[in-house]
Amino acid sequence: MKNIFNETYESFEDYFKSINDKKYRATQLYDFLYKKRIYNLDLMNNISKSTKEKIKNDYDFSFIKIIKKQEDKDVKKYLFELLDGNRIESVLMYHNYGISLCVSSQVGCNMGCAFCESGRLKKARNLETYEMVEQLILIEEDLNIRITHIVIMGIGEPFDNYDNVMNFIKIITSRKGIDKGIRHITVSTCGIIPGIEKFMHDFNQVNLAISLHAPNNVIRSKIMPINKVYKLPDLIKATKKYVENTNRRITFEYIMLEGINDSNECAKELASLLKDINCYVNLIPYNETENIEFKRTKKVQILAFYDILKKNGINVTIRREFGSNVDAACGQLRAKTH
Ligand code: SAH
Repeated sequence: MKNIFNETYESFEDYFKSINDKKYRATQLYDFLYKKRIYNLDLMNNISKSTKEKIKNDYDFSFIKIIKKQEDKDVKKYLFELLDGNRIESVLMYHNYGISLCVSSQVGCNMGCAFCESGRLKKARNLETYEMVEQLILIEEDLNIRITHIVIMGIGEPFDNYDNVMNFIKIITSRKGIDKGIRHITVSTCGIIPGIEKFMHDFNQVNLAISLHAPNNVIRSKIMPINKVYKLPDLIKATKKYVENTNRRITFEYIMLEGINDSNECAKELASLLKDINCYVNLIPYNETENIEFKRTKKVQILAFYDILKKNGINVTIRREFGSNVDAACGQLRAKTH
């Protein structure tokens, strides 16, 4: 039996065709599930009894569970338990422009970035599409809100779970259902080049963020093992191709790690690396964690780094900090409850 929240609108159309029912059942079902948020078939009053019987036999409506919630002023962090007992987390953030949700795409992660808590825990498995959809709908229901922005930047590497993540994007952007704005969705990758190339053809309206974190190949290889497979010069080439093909600006995330990648020289090197790319750089104050020895760059050095990029014509922002009081940073809640 398949979980009902795995299905795109088009796959429901195919399903109803395959059981000799009418194609518009897909519209009705999507309307109940995602517009009215009714998950009990018995309450879907305009669908015939015989169709409901078939749906009941073919689909399972089970949900992941919220098991913990931590709240601060502008941030709420959710810990979920999956049906097999694994745990993942999502983070909700209130901004002046809307409400964003940071969604996990895997249980753990295999990319092994030296500074990251999620990587320390290793990947147990990919998330199914429904497990991503349910992170969103359960939080919207819990708070009675509508989320405006979605970032696939939680635990996991989205391009290591390409098909399920892309199905998730299809489901949440369907006009027939959840109907989130496609330009309000961002996928963040550590730099898996074949994923970037595929993505720019499949989803040229969705935003792409690259976790760069270093201005050259040597530093990047020290902190991000993926750089030994997809090297920085090739990654930069891929991002240029992405910008050319999609006509969209790309985001580079850059964690500030004291004494590792945060010197003035690094800032100059970064500026010259990115000078021809339509991009913006998001400087991220590192969230220190108990288990990893990296330190966060001091504020004055973050500002100095910022100034150098700015003076060299790079669009740059410093990420506002969310949730250091609620272990909101990157896999920390999950790590604590393991
Ligand atoms: N695998 C994807 C998405 C998940 S990680 C990626 O690499 O982009 C989301 C972002 O959080 C990445 O930029 C990651 O490098 C960063 N990150 C991981 N641990 C962090 C920490 N302790 N403090 C700040 N950012 C962190």
